[in-house]
Amino acid sequence: MTAALDILVTRVAQSRVGEMSLENIPFGKHYSDHMLEVDYVDGQWMQPQIKPYQPLSLAPSLAALHYGQAIFEGIKAYADANGNPRIFRPLENFYRFNLSAERMQMPPVPEDIFMEGMRQLVSLDRAWIPRHKDHSLYIRPFMFSTDELIGVRPSDNYKFLIILSPSGPYYVAPMRIHVEEQYIRAAPGGVGYAKAAGNYGAAMYATAQARKHGYDQVLWMDGLERKYVQECGTMNVFFIIGDTAITPSLEQGTILNGVTRQSVITLLKEAHLRVEERPLSLEEILEAYDRGALKEVFGTGTAATISLIKALACRGRELTFAVDQWQYAPLLKQKLMDIREGRLPDVHGWMMPVG
Ligand SMILES: *Cc1c(COP(=O)(O)O)cnc(C)c1O
Repeated sequence: MTAALDILVTRVAQSRVGEMSLENIPFGKHYSDHMLEVDYVDGQWMQPQIKPYQPLSLAPSLAALHYGQAIFEGIKAYADANGNPRIFRPLENFYRFNLSAERMQMPPVPEDIFMEGMRQLVSLDRAWIPRHKDHSLYIRPFMFSTDELIGVRPSDNYKFLIILSPSGPYYVAPMRIHVEEQYIRAAPGGVGYAKAAGNYGAAMYATAQARKHGYDQVLWMDGLERKYVQECGTMNVFFIIGDTAITPSLEQGTILNGVTRQSVITLLKEAHLRVEERPLSLEEILEAYDRGALKEVFGTGTAATISLIKALACRGRELTFAVDQWQYAPLLKQKLMDIREGRLPDVHGWMMPVG
């Protein structure tokens, strides 16, 4: 990584960080003093700028608003025991961001703009990283098309930004999940593997229906047969059956390749559990539950890390779990937090120092 990236930095006259308490601050509501903004104009990336967090001025004809070329990422920065800021596996998010960009016919963001821009932004706004346990600074890189033209075609112009949001513990009570067998999120050949904005808008109707019936989220099924489980909301899913942890495989391109998913696979293997990435059918889950072999079900994602699933509703039944007796999911959650907050050594090289 080159540190030579030339960023034009305009600092705020006075930081807002002293105006509020960062303790138990709600997720995604407050933003730090600065943001990174880089324009892509007719085939070229312009001068990156770090400037005071501020509204954007955009044309009503802005292409992204009409045809949805818009992608994003979600990353977290933590302060270690000595207060030094470190970011959890950001290079993985950079690679995934450009996979999303490619699928949406958007230009790749150069590595130095993404990584060095993020590093300098987090370094400048390091006072915004909450120091309390289970708190973090949520990093939101995103890009959208900015042509001012109502015509369906890829834009010539784009805007890449990074904004930072201090966040308290994203505590999620054990969740009740509705297995969605009517609506689908993604199908082979589609954009399911991309963190593309439209995927989330498209999921809201089914999720709202499930909420009306008392569930927190839906568990999506595969789009072809509604036979194999996929993922939940913004989380990948794991099922522990017997002494094997099973998570849906990625090869069909219908689910997000989660960084938390990858990390959990590594930690599960270290805990000497067998891990299988493969298609997992609802039949197999029901059969395992009925013979008492389905031990734990949980979601993984940057926002909540590990979310326990206490009820799974499908085919007129409700599978329920005694989450307080679980062994692995709480252990994984603790371990990930300890690595991120510096209480455990970072043996995998997951934490990138901000400097
Ligand atoms: C972001 C996301 C995940 C989790 O990915 P992480 O890299 O672990 O945060 C899973 N599924 C979907 C649909 C997502 O958008």
